[in-house]
Amino acid sequence: MTPPNTLPRSRVRDAAAKRSNARKLAADVAADRPTRRLPDAARLKTIAEREVRRFLDNHPESQRLAQSAQAHFLFGVPMHWMQDWPMPTPVFVQEAHGAHLRCVDGIDYVDFCLGDTAAMFGHSPASLTHAIAHESARGLSLMMPDVETVAVGALLERTFGLPMWQFATTATDANRFMLRWARAVTGRQQIVVFDGCYHGTVDDVFVDLIDGRPARRASLLGQAYDLTQYTRVVPFNDLAALEAALADGQVAAILAEPALTNCGMVLPDEGYWEQVRALSLRHGSLLVLDETHTISAGRGGWARQHGIAPDALVVGKAIAGGLPCAVYGFTAELGARMQQAKAAAAPGHSGIGTTLSGNRLALAAVHATLEHLMTDAVYADTIKRANLVAKGLRAAIARHGFAWQVTQLGLRMEFQFCADAPRNAQAARDAMHDPLEALIHLYLLNRGVLITPFHNMLLVCPKTSPVDVSRLVTAFDSCLEELAAAP
Ligand code: PMP
Repeated sequence: MTPPNTLPRSRVRDAAAKRSNARKLAADVAADRPTRRLPDAARLKTIAEREVRRFLDNHPESQRLAQSAQAHFLFGVPMHWMQDWPMPTPVFVQEAHGAHLRCVDGIDYVDFCLGDTAAMFGHSPASLTHAIAHESARGLSLMMPDVETVAVGALLERTFGLPMWQFATTATDANRFMLRWARAVTGRQQIVVFDGCYHGTVDDVFVDLIDGRPARRASLLGQAYDLTQYTRVVPFNDLAALEAALADGQVAAILAEPALTNCGMVLPDEGYWEQVRALSLRHGSLLVLDETHTISAGRGGWARQHGIAPDALVVGKAIAGGLPCAVYGFTAELGARMQQAKAAAAPGHSGIGTTLSGNRLALAAVHATLEHLMTDAVYADTIKRANLVAKGLRAAIARHGFAWQVTQLGLRMEFQFCADAPRNAQAARDAMHDPLEALIHLYLLNRGVLITPFHNMLLVCPKTSPVDVSRLVTAFDSCLEELAAAP
């Protein structure tokens, strides 16, 4: 366990993330913009030590459980990354409802993490829990299509605009399976991803640009073969680099989030995706959009909202409100090619699909989500709440003279320690600062506010109230006030 008197190292950062921001600073000075990117280091340390003590004083029961769990769980947690939160010991949760959760020490938190998108429509919304409870008494896993199958297919098409669908148990699996299909139908082996991407624990995509060269992500454990052999990586928002990667006609698919959301947030340039779509068609490479996070942009995801028609689309997490489930959809034309590929293959294992995928609980949860939660009305109302959060964060940043960015994608947003919105992953990495990030997270946590443990991402759900927003903005403002004070 992390010693209680230190802040844990929040995340493994790529070497590239450590680069200097000097050029940007010079530009800000020249343009007479706020230049305070980072607070005084000694001041940050003093506040951090005080916040660690405060956390420990307030969480005796979580500490006790964390200690006991060491006996049975690696790192004392069911999943090792549950240790990645920026607090001295994990917070053990009692229960969660709507936009709130309560820990075993009886503290109430407004949750802006929302299961890193899985609970984007709030924790346990009634429409979802009723559907799951009803279905769970009628057989959980049958290996045969459920009677709801046809209705769910029609709802998926209505929501996302693609006619054909398959289920998987996680977004990771859906991406992995879609890559297999893409290679199977095109007969090509190469794929293209964007620097800084994350699509789950899909080995193929863990390739970064380090000093302009593709390299396996440094943090991977136990990865045995050369990932750069079949994966090409290009910077986001760079059409020339993408065109060069596609030019030899060897690329089966481009797998991408419409906006990067996993290395901070990076939005696409105006017109970027229209051009990417044109390039993918010109070079015969499938365009596969992973909307697992960008589903925050609006009903049907970012691409649907912006009139981009991919060959295939992946959505996990929120599609079943947190029940393990993901879906991937595709055009009728691609569906026909997939059927041909399967028919042409030898009988036996396809390497695609798992036993529990598409079970009736998952179908019922997707049905309820599409019918009651992923509606235009719910999105419109929730985005208004998210706008309030973004406005409050921006006001606090401006009030204390920090040169920071707040980037919003519907219900999701990210504050980044840079003055201009980053256009690619390297710029987003340059804006990162682990100790500052860890301190802000812990400071908010000590005031009943939870944000995602990964960079500075926040999500807003339909139950996030103005009082909840005010709790966040007040705590954030007070943190910045302390950080901005003279050393
Ligand atoms: N795609 C994207 C864009 C993601 O952000 C994530 C997880 N953060 C995944 C896929 C993988 O989801 P899961 O861990 O549920 O498989």
